[in-house]
Amino acid sequence: MKPLPLAEIAIAPETVRRGLKRTLERSDPPQSILIVGSAGVGKRTLARALAAAWMCLRRTPAGHCQTCAVCQKWSEAGEHPDLRVLKPDPDQIKIDAVREVRQWGAFAPAVAPFRFVILEEAQRLNPAAANALLKTLEEPPPRYHFILTAPASDLLIPTILSRCRIVRLGTLPTEGVYNHLKQRFNLPDDTLQMLAEFSEGALGRAIRWAEHLQSAEPTSKGNPTRSELEALQQLIALFARLGQASLDEALRIAYEFREACKALEGGPEERSARTALALGLEYLLLWYRDSLALDYPTATLRFTSHRDELRQLAHRFKPTERLQDLMRIAEARRAILGNANAQIITEHLFIQLLRV
Ligand SMILES: [Zn+2]
Repeated sequence: MKPLPLAEIAIAPETVRRGLKRTLERSDPPQSILIVGSAGVGKRTLARALAAAWMCLRRTPAGHCQTCAVCQKWSEAGEHPDLRVLKPDPDQIKIDAVREVRQWGAFAPAVAPFRFVILEEAQRLNPAAANALLKTLEEPPPRYHFILTAPASDLLIPTILSRCRIVRLGTLPTEGVYNHLKQRFNLPDDTLQMLAEFSEGALGRAIRWAEHLQSAEPTSKGNPTRSELEALQQLIALFARLGQASLDEALRIAYEFREACKALEGGPEERSARTALALGLEYLLLWYRDSLALDYPTATLRFTSHRDELRQLAHRFKPTERLQDLMRIAEARRAILGNANAQIITEHLFIQLLRV
């Protein structure tokens, strides 16, 4: 897909949008930008919009013009002679790929004033590739710029991080996602509400689901969007039991949790077993965060249609305990994304969460 102009993409929070617009008023792009944010929050879309804006000959704070000689070179597939995109292949970015884009830097840009390398999921650079990238960032070829994306900045080595200008994308409230979907899609209200709740405030993700649901036959089996949504529904049903489940059920719940996460593997985002489990734990984090937010009348909930089950959890465990649990879940997620044994970590976690 061709890049969208900056002004046409959903960017939250508003301060980030303003900051980016100001950046576009300068004569040169930052040497390296790192865009961080959760899945589906719009990192890839923004990376392309920014590259397109800087490459354009008639750039404005609203983004690229879509008509100049440089903009005309964008293919329907979103390729451009002055852009290279590196992504994990299949689950790592290797040194050869980094060397290749480094060699590409020896040539002058084809048509644009600047060349860009977009490095998606930069946290997947293997150590050798990360070192090679660092060398390029330290002594970049002229008119040669990088945009990196990653789920969180602390997943990158500090030496790379220190060379990047960091852009942190936030999420929209559930209601904001719902309203946006409602304007665009002709789907039942409860479906839209479910998509908004599951989107974690990542509009791009909710839109992708809605597009698939709208285009797919309602009864079609093996539809990846449908199975992803079903898996998420299973997860939420599982979390809803935590307010009542006894300690004996911890291992069973851990097992069901891992099974539901298995259904999140692959799919349009090509998740590995570990990233699928990590995603499941992110939803669990949101669930606990919501249970804490119940105490604050002005706080907004993600799972607005599950107030009763959230109250049950809040009734059972004190706020201090649930705060501690939040940290335990975050720790478990980090361990899973490292190399820890998924069964041991999840069993240990649910035993801790169901303490008597
Ligand atoms: Zn242009």
